[in-house]
Amino acid sequence: MRTTYPKIKGVNWSKIHDTNTRKFLLHVHTELKQAGGSLDMHQAKSVKCEGFRVGGYFDSEDSVLAVAMKRPFGAWVRILVHEYSHFEQCRYDVPAWRNSTMPNGEDSGQILWDWIEKKGKVTDRRLVDAMYRTLDVELDCERRAVENLKRFGLPINVEAYARQAAAYMYFHPYSVIRRRWYRPRHAPYMYPEIIKAMPVTLAGDFRKISAETILLFDKYC
Ligand SMILES: [Zn+2]
Repeated sequence: MRTTYPKIKGVNWSKIHDTNTRKFLLHVHTELKQAGGSLDMHQAKSVKCEGFRVGGYFDSEDSVLAVAMKRPFGAWVRILVHEYSHFEQCRYDVPAWRNSTMPNGEDSGQILWDWIEKKGKVTDRRLVDAMYRTLDVELDCERRAVENLKRFGLPINVEAYARQAAAYMYFHPYSVIRRRWYRPRHAPYMYPEIIKAMPVTLAGDFRKISAETILLFDKYC
């Protein structure tokens, strides 16, 4: 029997040939709807999130998951599975998700970002705490993403995904050491030399970065 696919904002079903990816999109759409939200796929290279151009985001207040689809197939599927994994964290109210908010209600990622941008003051201790919380929520998300890639049989190489995610994880401690984030279009997971140096699983905690990895990030990012 042929599955009839519903209309989803921004999705052109005839252009998605992989059956498992179609099923996954349908699953994400259904779950978000049940949560009172929506899946917004955009035929654009980026989407706007709090003033920044990004590949995708999950907005937990409205349960809206947005993805910029005008990218290579593998790229938007990676974004979709990552943001969907944030949705799962929110829905199951997992500790890493809860703890990404500081005890005083501030967002840990915002503290890290403001410090990098040299806005306001923060103690070293609070900065490192905020970075660990940001790292932990992303790491928990990426571990879920790896499980989702397998569970839904998505056509993305799991080891390659894990290596890319590992590079992104290590950028967190790096950002505190160098007080900077990567330049636009210079994400650490884009460079083969960096990818080659990364672990193939996300079993580690990624809090400590080696001197070699620091030099690689200095070189490319
Ligand atoms: Zn994320």
